[in-house]
Amino acid sequence: MKKIGVLTSGGDSPGMNAAVRAVVRKAIYHNIEVYGIFGGYTGMIHGNIKKLELGSVGDIIHRGGTMLYSARCEEFKTPAGQQQGIEQLNKHGIEGLVVIGGDGSYRGAEALTEQGYACVGVPGTIDNDIAGTQYTIGFDTALNTVIDAIDKIRDTASSHERTFIIEVMGRDAGDIALWAGLAGGAETILIPEVGYNINEIGTRLKKGLERGKRHSIIIVAEGVSSGAEFAREVEKATNFETRVSVLGHIQRGGSPTAFDRVLASRLGSRAVELLIDKKGGRAVGIQNNQVVDYSFEEIFSKEKSIDFSMYHLSQELSI
Ligand code: ADP
Repeated sequence: MKKIGVLTSGGDSPGMNAAVRAVVRKAIYHNIEVYGIFGGYTGMIHGNIKKLELGSVGDIIHRGGTMLYSARCEEFKTPAGQQQGIEQLNKHGIEGLVVIGGDGSYRGAEALTEQGYACVGVPGTIDNDIAGTQYTIGFDTALNTVIDAIDKIRDTASSHERTFIIEVMGRDAGDIALWAGLAGGAETILIPEVGYNINEIGTRLKKGLERGKRHSIIIVAEGVSSGAEFAREVEKATNFETRVSVLGHIQRGGSPTAFDRVLASRLGSRAVELLIDKKGGRAVGIQNNQVVDYSFEEIFSKEKSIDFSMYHLSQELSI
């Protein structure tokens, strides 16, 4: 392979830049030209493609967001849109593509693979919801952002004897809520993978108050309920006054942690190795601190779920 492309797609995540940098530097190290596709699959369809040099990715390893920009592109879900994208890549002589993104972006990469185009996926999403990897790029940073917020909210919660409900990201996946809840010492964690009983939660909150707790922190993944809606349920069940914080998009931003930078560097680098070895149609990941790769088919056939032992641990430690 003499020319490869790289794009970032879907929801952005901290560490995507570090992954782009790794792809570009690794390829150039192996005398391969690298082209940046700006604006995800939309940019691909419209030929928004520029050659990247070593210096193009200087000074980005510590930056959140993505220098290649990201987008969502409905047109790319059609074979015609995919063909248009492939034509643009062919026009530039680009023979293989690294797609950095989440589940939806992987579907796009799989579609390209089915059309005969060599594509490798790198898991970039804060949700940690991609099978075939224990961690996705951006999860650790998002987690630390949430923990920082919980710690600050805890300070004010304890000053005022309040029940705080903190809504975090995670439509279908509870990892951010679960890990942040465990690391932040939350009393209750609500995640999409596990149902909840409002009366049980009410009893727990009341018991906590009886034994002298000055505050309670409840973490709610957005996929379970909005913070405001859940606050109404709690108030109805307990008569406690609650306060709600919706952390929102701050969870997506910020300088990536060392963990995410190292992960992105390792995974981006392996993606290029796979293209060099002509092994398209695969996605890279990390398992037991080893870089691994699976076919898209394998990734989509596996169910990525939370670690239920961690959920039980969080319950044991928050009595
Ligand atoms: P993420 O990659 O973060 O999960 P999305 O689900 O929004 O984000 O997907 C990003 C983009 O990937 C979509 O806008 C679309 O262009 C492409 N995509 C998603 N699903 C498919 C699909 N089934 N086939 C082809 N492309 C897809």
